Amino acid sequence: MAIEFSLTPDQEAFRAAARSFLAKEVAPVVAEMDEREEFPAASVRRLQEEGYFGIPVPEEYGGLGLGKVGYCLFLEELGRVDASHGVIVGAHTSLGTTPLLYYGTEDQKRRWLMPAAKGEKLLAFSLTEPGSGSDSGAVHTVAERNGDRWSLTGTKIYVSNGREADTVIVMAANDPKLGANGGVTAFLVDRGTPGFRVGRCEKKMGLHGSSTAELILDHVDLGPEHVLGEVGKGFHVAMTALDVGRVSLGAASLGGMEAATEAALSFSQNRTQFGLPISEYEVIQFKLADMAMKVHALRYLVYHAAARQDRMGWTPTAWNRLERQEKTRESAVVKCLASEWASDVIDEALQIHGGLGYIRGTPIERAYRDARISEIFEGTNEIQRLVVARDLLARGL
Ligand SMILES: Cc1cc2nc3c(=O)[nH]c(=O)nc-3n(C[C@H](O)[C@H](O)[C@H](O)COP(=O)(O)OP(=O)(O)OC[C@H]3O[C@@H](n4cnc5c(N)ncnc54)[C@H](O)[C@@H]3O)c2cc1C
Repeated sequence: MAIEFSLTPDQEAFRAAARSFLAKEVAPVVAEMDEREEFPAASVRRLQEEGYFGIPVPEEYGGLGLGKVGYCLFLEELGRVDASHGVIVGAHTSLGTTPLLYYGTEDQKRRWLMPAAKGEKLLAFSLTEPGSGSDSGAVHTVAERNGDRWSLTGTKIYVSNGREADTVIVMAANDPKLGANGGVTAFLVDRGTPGFRVGRCEKKMGLHGSSTAELILDHVDLGPEHVLGEVGKGFHVAMTALDVGRVSLGAASLGGMEAATEAALSFSQNRTQFGLPISEYEVIQFKLADMAMKVHALRYLVYHAAARQDRMGWTPTAWNRLERQEKTRESAVVKCLASEWASDVIDEALQIHGGLGYIRGTPIERAYRDARISEIFEGTNEIQRLVVARDLLARGL
């Protein structure tokens, strides 16, 4: 078990550059984006131009080559500024570029990964269906084989970036009888393919800048080059991507917690009641201390998990069983604790702001609405606890 971990000067410099870029290019658009419930196309374009949609992708495939630690550093910084942008980058990078890197052929990497990492194309990932959420292996979208071609028919829901994506990684059942193990395959489906269209886009409590779309597939004809990974191994492809997504979601939550804690600290030192700044009252100090403790603990969890995944590299066939099990358990731990701590910390920060925290349009009010989904998507926290408990029962602590 590796415990030692510290950031290199280059990683610190990358973080500092990202922080000033986000302050200039993203922070100014967030309030209006939230109010208008609009995809922030202009700031997304700037992030793409800067290479921030390909941070962990190796340079030979058009990325920045900064690994998952670099990627988490960026998402932590982005999480301090806005959760919607975090989901747009996360759905594209963790759930879009990762499966291509892990399972794509060389041709697929050149055709789909390179433009995505360079920021020329946007990706999305589509597993969830109306009848298949937590039971995500029970895919009903059918992939029918005709010679070496495939025909996909079905309805997918809740796809982040689904409305804007150039390519969606779609999980479909090549053999519904086999279920998750052998019966699900991952396909690369391009926007504009006949039979493929965007349906309803959800209105949500938070994450107003991120689209959450229904996708409709009606006899979508695809050649063999659109199959990502082996036929029947799509569930595995999805779960491997989600292990990355759960850690990066932890990093974005960490950023949200830091921003909320700093805002509460500053507010409490400036707000005077009963003749004293409220930070002088022990009740408020204890709240701030609890918030800071969660931030400290989560920093170690996130970067430990990201560094482990970097050490494991990009070749899943090279991983042994124990490495896989430890990675999956750790990703579930990070996701679960990060999302619950983020909800707690942001809730306490709102409380410290008093009535002001409840006023529409304040950063803390937006953060409160945005944070709640992290306990639900990328696998609910009940499912994360099942993942941890099953592994615990099988292997012990
Ligand atoms: C904003 C947003 C963005 C999303 N983005 C994407 C995306 O990009 N791609 C994608 O594929 N999906 C996406 N999702 C879907 C998301 O991952 C699912 O909503 C989530 O996995 C839960 O599925 P469900 O909504 O069907 O809930 P259900 O599975 O119906 O769960 C309902 C409740 O039952 C609990 N439950 C279910 N089974 C068990 C069990 N065995 N034991 C104990 N409790 C259980 C759940 O934890 C939950 O509390 C997104 C969802 C939202 C809201």
